[in-house]
Amino acid sequence: MPTRLERRRDPSVAKPAETSWVASTMSALSDTLTTRHHSRDFVFAHGHYLRSRVMAVGFIFLLLSPLWLLIDALMLPQAVQRYTLAGRVIMMLGFAGVVWWAWRSEENIRRIRFSAGALIALPALFYALVLSVVPHDANQALVGYNFIPFLLVAALSVFPFTLLESLLAGLLLQALLVFAQHVNGSWLTPAGLEAQWLLATLLVVALTANHFQLSLLLRLYRQATHDALTGLLNRGALERRLAEIEREEARTGKPVPYALLMLDIDHFKRVNDTHGHSVGDKVLREFARLIALQVRAGDFVARYGGEEFVVVLLGADAENAALVAERIRETVEGATLFDHDGNPVPVTTSIGVACPDAPQASEATLKVADERLYHAKESGRNRVCNG
Ligand code: GH3
Ligand code: MG
Ligand code: MG
Repeated sequence: MPTRLERRRDPSVAKPAETSWVASTMSALSDTLTTRHHSRDFVFAHGHYLRSRVMAVGFIFLLLSPLWLLIDALMLPQAVQRYTLAGRVIMMLGFAGVVWWAWRSEENIRRIRFSAGALIALPALFYALVLSVVPHDANQALVGYNFIPFLLVAALSVFPFTLLESLLAGLLLQALLVFAQHVNGSWLTPAGLEAQWLLATLLVVALTANHFQLSLLLRLYRQATHDALTGLLNRGALERRLAEIEREEARTGKPVPYALLMLDIDHFKRVNDTHGHSVGDKVLREFARLIALQVRAGDFVARYGGEEFVVVLLGADAENAALVAERIRETVEGATLFDHDGNPVPVTTSIGVACPDAPQASEATLKVADERLYHAKESGRNRVCNG
């Protein structure tokens, strides 16, 4: 039976070690296929990375556009140029618009994704338009246009798109090539089939690059946001998530209800001193697993410091939070942990519980939870203090 922790396929939870190459490959593929399993925080980090790429590639396309105007002027007959000039100018304005739009969209992931799509779509539409309006006999004069679908498929690999996004874009570009071949008469000729084959091969290369790029991003994200020992969120990631809640509160003007639990293992120094540091580490890992099992998917569990942990229960009021805290305390007390020789290691925890009493007050809430934790320690340990 997979545990609740393992069932959650959110990258905010460190993955358990995979059992085989096939299992780990399937898991990596499902991570890069769509954004379905990505946490909000990762979607945000991914969006920022995408945004920097959109701005860089958009800027390069914009700089190259006047050069293309020059090539058109040298290669194309006068009669054809009037068809392409307007299109190129509109495309340049489009590139400038995309760069501006991406630059303005720091906080809006949907707009960033849209601008990335627009960057690929603009040259494709330009090519389709030129093919539609240039008279058939002038078609052969279009030098340097036929590679546009190939260039765009190659460009897909520059962006950390999901596999599904790249596949969709690639199929549309394949359709563009089919259209171009109908126009220039190479459809179902050996040269035409060769070009289709080349485009499909390039698409596979781009998908492979996307997969590895996104996998690497996910891995780096997990390492940067998770504690290596316990697999829980680290303190920085917790603070970013609390800041995200505060941003939402500022945006909507409404408080986001949550409760915050601060936990500290009792007399943990004794565990280290009696059983050794490696048993201490084992206890920390097991303790983390026990608390993660007591909360719902979507709640945050973080290792705040050495043997201090923070749990954020989203949507919970003070009463519910006290119940969950008590359940965690009992679970830890009732769990049987062992050292390397099989001797039992008794473990208990003290917990401070607090709820924000105003919007954008996560720092104050952490402080209150910490004070209550101190109070729980003072009044004998192995207890919950919620007021
Ligand atoms: P209290 O009940 O008052 O909390 O007592 P305590 O002994 O738990 O508190 P104290 O803060 O004095 O000790 C915490 C200990 O946790 C000291 C430190 O060596 C140990 N520790 C911190 N991080 C780690 C870790 O990653 N692994 C191990 N094994 N020990 C750690
Ligand atoms: Mg302690
Ligand atoms: Mg401590």
